Amino acid sequence: KAGFVNIIGNPNVGKSTLMNAFIGEKLSIITSKAQTTRHRILGIVNGEDFQVILSDTPGIIKPAYELQESMMDFVKTAFDDADVLIYMVEIGEKDLKDEAFFNKITNSKIPVLLLLNKIDKSNQEQMEEQSELWQNKVPNAEFFPISATEGFNVQNVFNRIIELL
Ligand code: GDP
Ligand code: MG
Repeated sequence: KAGFVNIIGNPNVGKSTLMNAFIGEKLSIITSKAQTTRHRILGIVNGEDFQVILSDTPGIIKPAYELQESMMDFVKTAFDDADVLIYMVEIGEKDLKDEAFFNKITNSKIPVLLLLNKIDKSNQEQMEEQSELWQNKVPNAEFFPISATEGFNVQNVFNRIIELL
């Protein structure tokens, strides 16, 4: 089994931290090489019977300059080429401002894992409220509350990725 996973979400939600958590456990290659192909390959996790290639994206931003527009083009290829999409939000986040982008996620034909990160920062009530909010917003996704820094649910997410490849 081999496949490509793209991690998308706003800046600072914890995308790189999660990628490091995946890679740290399996010890593999990290490259910060600039994008040479359509994907920015940032990590490869090799197991006995699988290989997972991970990439994250520049943060989702509304294009205000031409440079940012070309970055957004790159982000959009995530929807066409990945085997699994990870859409990450963080505790306290209420909305994604780019509606067109959000529609792409909710209409994705590729399986989407919706991760609510930084739950270590929240109490039970806030976590439940935010979990419900995001599950309703992205009903096509499989939902996981996680803490990338504490490692909570990280292995379960990884196992699910392997199943989906
Ligand atoms: P990215 O921009 O989406 O790649 O986000 P980063 O991985 O760089 O993380 C942004 C900040 O959030 C860093 O200071 C991380 O240490 C912090 N962070 C990431 N995951 C967690 C988490 O699960 N809990 C808490 N409390 N902080 C986190
Ligand atoms: Mg990052």
